[in-house]
Amino acid sequence: MNLHEYQGRDLFASYGIPVLPGEVATTPAEAKDAAKRLGGHVVVKAQVHAGGRGKAGGVKLADNPDQAAEVAQAILKLKIKDLPVRKVLVAKAAEIKSEAYFGITLDRAARRPVVIVSAAGGVDIEEVAAKTPDKVIRHHVNPKTGLTEAEALEISGRVYSNADHAKQAADILLKLWKVTSEKDTSLVEINPLVVDGHDKVLALDSKVVLDDNGLFRHPDLEELRDPDSETKWERMAREMGLSYVKLDGNVGCCVNGAGLAMATMDLIKYYGGDPANFLDIGGSSSPEKVLTAMKIILADKNVKSIVFNIFGGITRCDDVARGIVEAVKKGKIEHPIVVRLTGTNEEEARKILDESDVEVTPAKTMDEVVQLGIRAALRSKIDSVS
Ligand code: GDP
Ligand code: MN
Repeated sequence: MNLHEYQGRDLFASYGIPVLPGEVATTPAEAKDAAKRLGGHVVVKAQVHAGGRGKAGGVKLADNPDQAAEVAQAILKLKIKDLPVRKVLVAKAAEIKSEAYFGITLDRAARRPVVIVSAAGGVDIEEVAAKTPDKVIRHHVNPKTGLTEAEALEISGRVYSNADHAKQAADILLKLWKVTSEKDTSLVEINPLVVDGHDKVLALDSKVVLDDNGLFRHPDLEELRDPDSETKWERMAREMGLSYVKLDGNVGCCVNGAGLAMATMDLIKYYGGDPANFLDIGGSSSPEKVLTAMKIILADKNVKSIVFNIFGGITRCDDVARGIVEAVKKGKIEHPIVVRLTGTNEEEARKILDESDVEVTPAKTMDEVVQLGIRAALRSKIDSVS
């Protein structure tokens, strides 16, 4: 789950990381009032879950409250990477002497958190990393000891030649480490970390990605979830405990287990088809879960056939079969459905499907179910624009 900049900066501020005062506004009038309270000279910034806002015209300076209203109006009309801007952050503007990049993420290959810093921060950091990777410094942290003061000083000393700036930045880095270790984040990022006109080191932007698997420990952060950031179907999936990712193909997939779901998608590609989604119905099953899964898959109008690939362990095949029968009857589903159910209670499952008047094509192997699913999608009479 991503936090918005204003939420991330509040989190940073609560850890003592210096940020400039700011307020959220949803209308030009609110932006104007906020600018008045902040002394007039402000920066107005789009709050959307997308990087590169600066380059897309989503970050603008204003000299006075009227101008703040004007730029807020323009920014609130923008779509950045297809996302409509509904809120702006109005913050006191800083005079910028230098822009650095400071971040901490997880290096899965190294199985360690990694601190990433660069003196060449700002809106071009991706280009810097791609073209001049030697300007980006990486430091792996031992998770047992955590980031030490000495390490933090050493790292920031490589970014700042001025000892006072380096000390301030090291302090910020230690606080950033505290955020990442206490809040289960997969990324915390300050870009730019600036030195301002008064030689103060400040965080002018924030990016925080929370690890969804750790969110249950942070109900206060869960509450910050932006309902606009997921579709109705993604929300439905999350609430039912299903993992769903929409893709662009036409073969709907309903699978149990993330690994099997990935393998099924790979196999669809291998046989020349195109998966419409990743969907993992999870370890345990119930007919309701399957019903929800079908609803979610069919909400995507590109879907022309549905492949069920279920390996029954804790998931019971009979539960899945009951879900399929119920969903087809209730939802009057006309899509061709191809089913491979193997493992726990597969005999019962077959019986349920056979005895129902619901039409599904059975398959024995993974190859078979995938090939039949692709063929069914090609022949399907389902109109993709209906
Ligand atoms: P991003 O493009 O989405 O990462 O948005 P940022 O919040 O990082 O802002 C982009 C750029 O706008 C920064 O790198 C700065 O150069 C500039 N900027 C942001 N805030 C201020 C400010 O208070 N004063 C000045 N002068 N520039 C700012
Ligand atoms: Mn930024």
